[in-house]
Amino acid sequence: MSISVPDSIYCCRERLRQCLENNTHTIVLAIDGIHLDIARQCWPEAKTEQLETVFPTTSSTGWLSSLTGQTIHQHRVPGVVFRPTSNAPLINVWEYDGDEIPIPEHNIFTDAIMLGYQTVAINGDFLPVTGRWTQALFAHCQKTCPERFFTAPALDIPQKVHHVTTCIDSFLNTSEPTFIWCFIDTDLHIHRYGYDQDLCDFLTQLGKQAEQWQTQGYQVIAYSDHGLVPTRHDIDIANTIEKIADNFNLQTGGAGRTRWLYTSSEQENEIIDTLRQALPTEIQVISQRQIFTQFDPRIGRVLIIAGGENFICPAEYIYEHGSRLPEEMQVPFTYWRPYGR
Ligand SMILES: [Zn+2]
Repeated sequence: MSISVPDSIYCCRERLRQCLENNTHTIVLAIDGIHLDIARQCWPEAKTEQLETVFPTTSSTGWLSSLTGQTIHQHRVPGVVFRPTSNAPLINVWEYDGDEIPIPEHNIFTDAIMLGYQTVAINGDFLPVTGRWTQALFAHCQKTCPERFFTAPALDIPQKVHHVTTCIDSFLNTSEPTFIWCFIDTDLHIHRYGYDQDLCDFLTQLGKQAEQWQTQGYQVIAYSDHGLVPTRHDIDIANTIEKIADNFNLQTGGAGRTRWLYTSSEQENEIIDTLRQALPTEIQVISQRQIFTQFDPRIGRVLIIAGGENFICPAEYIYEHGSRLPEEMQVPFTYWRPYGR
């Protein structure tokens, strides 16, 4: 994977910091699962630049990298299910509450405070996630506020946009500038329905609201953590991977369209050969060393990466993420002027 600093999500923190130099209320719409093309389609009036997100393309890695500017090796969250140390039990990052996920010393919130901003994270739709990862993500933020937006079941699309608007507006009454990072989970919807009309309507209406905030003199930015691609659960693929893991007594980790096996360096080539012979050729079976310049013990030595639609996912999903297709890797960094102008 190429890690091109000027174009990667790692530079998101620096870009946001530059936005803060405008010394006005700054609203960041952090929208989970939006790929570059859908942003350009729904927000034609705004300026959308392309960022390459982090691999594996999961929310846990993408959001943490965007706010800290750190690689997965630095913030130490390489996915959803992983082994924090050799031979330790697997952890699931959404449920984990121990200290193996470090709290970052600096992030966009410390940058904003240094520049004289008040900081607010609207923990929209993250509501069920209260563990260590969320503490790491929102480290140093002065105020966090839970809300449900896109995942609120009883609201129609205009009501969802209105709810986002009133919640953000409630933090704009201060004389000092406020930095608001507002999370909106469209990811779960896309998993189930794809990039459908409801989603496009929501994004379009939210873009109109962003224009209004911009005309009031506020800086508005929207960006995302990854896109999703069509995926269907293939029982044969699932059984094959499980059987090989069982036969060799290996733990599996990863998430979505990238899974990995924890094995030894001596056994690595044998596992790769066995998987390649058993799985369809569109699935990439590859050594961790071929993807990352630095070996990361939290990631298994052998990676299994989806290439087409057939892989492993919950039965009700029609879209999934985690692998390296352009629609997953290319994410928007959109601003309603004047940042960069
Ligand atoms: Zn996500």
